[in-house]
Amino acid sequence: MFDAKTACVVVVGAQWGDEGKGKLVDVLAERADVVVRYQGGANAGHTVVIGDSHFILRQIPSGILHGGVTCVVGNGVVLEPETFFGELDELARRGIDTTGRIFVSDRAHLVLPLHKLLDAASEKSQKIGTTGRGIGPAYEDKYGRRGIRVVDLRRLDCARELLVHRVQRANRLLELMGSPDRASLEAHGELLERLAPRVLPLAADTGLLVHRALRGGKRVLLEGAQGALLDVDHGTYPYVTSSNTTAGGAAVGAGIGPTAIDGVLGVVKAYTTRVGNGPLPTEAESPFDERLRELGGEFGSVTGRPRRCGWFDATVVRYAVRVNGLTGLAVTKLDVLDSFPEIPVCTAYRLDDQSCEEMPTEVDALGRVKPIYEVHEGWRQPTGGARKLADLPAAARAYLDRLEALSGAAVRYVSVGTRRDQIIEV
Ligand code: GDP
Repeated sequence: MFDAKTACVVVVGAQWGDEGKGKLVDVLAERADVVVRYQGGANAGHTVVIGDSHFILRQIPSGILHGGVTCVVGNGVVLEPETFFGELDELARRGIDTTGRIFVSDRAHLVLPLHKLLDAASEKSQKIGTTGRGIGPAYEDKYGRRGIRVVDLRRLDCARELLVHRVQRANRLLELMGSPDRASLEAHGELLERLAPRVLPLAADTGLLVHRALRGGKRVLLEGAQGALLDVDHGTYPYVTSSNTTAGGAAVGAGIGPTAIDGVLGVVKAYTTRVGNGPLPTEAESPFDERLRELGGEFGSVTGRPRRCGWFDATVVRYAVRVNGLTGLAVTKLDVLDSFPEIPVCTAYRLDDQSCEEMPTEVDALGRVKPIYEVHEGWRQPTGGARKLADLPAAARAYLDRLEALSGAAVRYVSVGTRRDQIIEV
């Protein structure tokens, strides 16, 4: 992705999340100087496999696993400090030195215990299928202009005053929602006091840091979390996350201008999965859904929840190509399809007996669509050892060509296994 004209690249999920962005970011970070997380919170679990070690990173950019890379938690992220420091400590325990190469935006908002209580209470009535980590309520406070930001830790006396109102408000809401839980002002005050000396040395105007890096000829990777169909504007609302996961959100959430971005890589699985509630038009029937789940290890890396599994949906990916302005695709988990004799691909939908080539806006309509499938012959051979396109069976190459033609973006990478080296650069 990086070359003389491409210094700033965004990596986004182009389905419903869990596409394997962590692995792609890990591969691309080797060539980057700075890696930035720009949205979401500790609900995004990237899994990176190095040798026999599995690293699950929720809050820290997965670029941290490369020694020379500077990592940034951007202003668009909501920071869950306990998870963040837990991960930093775990990395240190496993011999990864992060000193001087991790920064947190001083404009980032904090996720507090009161947000988790509110999340749990509202999930009881709203049933979006959130991870319960307080991300949604933290974004609500951000947009309601009552959030507490990293910068507020510089003046703990003021932060404490803010807390009085926030805790009172949260407790009123909890009461209204019929929750027996209450947030404690004292515990929140102690938390901020404990956090300030650890967070503040890492706090910076990270938009400026990224801007300077780009001006100095450095390569910057902007790492998205979740996927296009979970974007709060473009996703299957209301079954979405609380931030803009699409590439436009990368500029805002990293604190740079959109003109600074040179390329956008969309990560897609060779099939489709989704966690949480909401429609999934290409959900496979039994036993294929179980087989995809088992072979692909499709269980949430944060929650352990089984993911719903189905066939590749070109309507979804075409849409993601458009709303992200994708300049390339990375197709992951091709190896998971190795044993299937036939592989259906959804080319478009039928909606109420009309053909439908674009994503419907209404979630009910998406729940009613009938996928139009074409069935591809499987290759029935292992692909995990392939390192170039020519190593792949002809049927697998034909499958990839078809995904590219249906999606409208060039396939730039194909991932054929969990390991770092199991990747084909096209
Ligand atoms: P992310 O949030 O988009 O990074 O996705 P997750 O980390 O939740 O899920 C990706 C999972 O798929 C991880 O367990 C990866 O190790 C695994 N993975 C990534 N690429 C491949 C691949 O090409 N083949 C297989 N079999 N697994 C992969």
